[in-house]
Amino acid sequence: MKVLIVGGGGREHALAWKCAQCARVERVFVAPGNAGTAREPKVLNVDIAAGDIEGLLRFAGRERVELTIVGPEAPLVAGIADRFAQEGRACFGPTRAAARLEGSKAYTKAFLQRHGIPTAGYAAFTAADFDPEFVRAQRLPVVVKADGLAAGKGVVICETHETALDAAQRMLSGCFGTAGNTVVIEEFLRGEEVSFIVVAAGEQVVPLATSQDHKRRDDGDKGPNTGGMGAYSPAPIVTPALHARIMAEVIEPALRGLVLDGTPYLGFLYAGLMIAADGTPNVLEFNCRLGDPETQPILMRLESDLVSLCGAAVRGCLDRVELSWDARAALGVVMAAGGYPDHYRTGDPIRGLEAADALPGKVFHAGTRPVGSQVLTAGGRVLCAVGLGDSLAAARREAYELVHAIHWDGAQYRNDIGDRALAGPGIRMIKGDSP
Ligand code: AMP
Repeated sequence: MKVLIVGGGGREHALAWKCAQCARVERVFVAPGNAGTAREPKVLNVDIAAGDIEGLLRFAGRERVELTIVGPEAPLVAGIADRFAQEGRACFGPTRAAARLEGSKAYTKAFLQRHGIPTAGYAAFTAADFDPEFVRAQRLPVVVKADGLAAGKGVVICETHETALDAAQRMLSGCFGTAGNTVVIEEFLRGEEVSFIVVAAGEQVVPLATSQDHKRRDDGDKGPNTGGMGAYSPAPIVTPALHARIMAEVIEPALRGLVLDGTPYLGFLYAGLMIAADGTPNVLEFNCRLGDPETQPILMRLESDLVSLCGAAVRGCLDRVELSWDARAALGVVMAAGGYPDHYRTGDPIRGLEAADALPGKVFHAGTRPVGSQVLTAGGRVLCAVGLGDSLAAARREAYELVHAIHWDGAQYRNDIGDRALAGPGIRMIKGDSP
């Protein structure tokens, strides 16, 4: 069978690599892919943008693609799953209506409240009804969020009421385009952040292995927020008891709520959670897709067949699926271009990829481009080097051996991925100093 992966980042490289391992799969297309997917056996890049829904649909029809897996959120929020369904083509990803869980924060906050799922207190405003007094009455810090997709930049944690008012006004006056037509003013939560990812089909659900990422750019969880500088699986903070709470208090009521609201969910569902000191799993956000870079270590540990998993979800028989996981830990270190997440350089030749190929572990590409025999940097996050090991510490050693084999001008990466987990089990406070 033929499979199409939509997207061109590190997550999509991992998806393509994993799908290609399935014996039934003769070809995996990636649209548009990157230099890493271009080098994978059985995988072929296709020059169609992830947002070109009609182009993707025509291609899937022409090539008789039997399963399409959508990596990034934008085509999902734009309705790619609906268009594929209209044409009778299997597409693993939520409909536009269900993808609003990521596409609109105001919608999601109302959804969470309506279905009794724990989350921070909030209010939503448009320019017409914005109430500065509401903002001034909030405890500090206060969180201001643009409602729509803002490429990870639409959340501002404000230490003063003035900066909160300023952030809200800037959003409402269009600094994120229509994404800021509505703003959400939210209570600041303390605790430890956890990503929890499941495969869902209606109320059927299979949780993936646990994971945790590092969002800040610099060592010690300092510096600007990024798309993610590294991740590991499993996440020791997610004890069996916490796992059970997250399923019972967040995932199951959310999937039930989506069915009740008439927008049943199909696809990967990612809950970004802030675990309070008493263990309450507060929802910070939902994403309607896999996380990047969490996907890379998670899929390194997945022993089951990913194509069968997604196929079972599309057919609505997830209840018959049981996943098997490599008992070892996996840890991924993101290598980014100099300057990331602000202005960064592209077009630098990457050296050492062949040397890295000879080492244990796996280098997934993200922002890379093949030019002749060279691989050039082509994005902010360039590579994610993933190690496997009997312990998180061993996985980390393997990952950094890969990182140390690879060079380009201005490459930057964190040296402490996994530190929080290695510091010991239990909930440690990383935001603020009191519960
Ligand atoms: P979001 O896109 O909503 O997940 O927000 C991005 C990041 O901002 C999260 O990963 C958190 O680190 C932080 N954040 C968002 N909302 C809150 C909140 N209510 N309290 C504390 N931190 C938050």
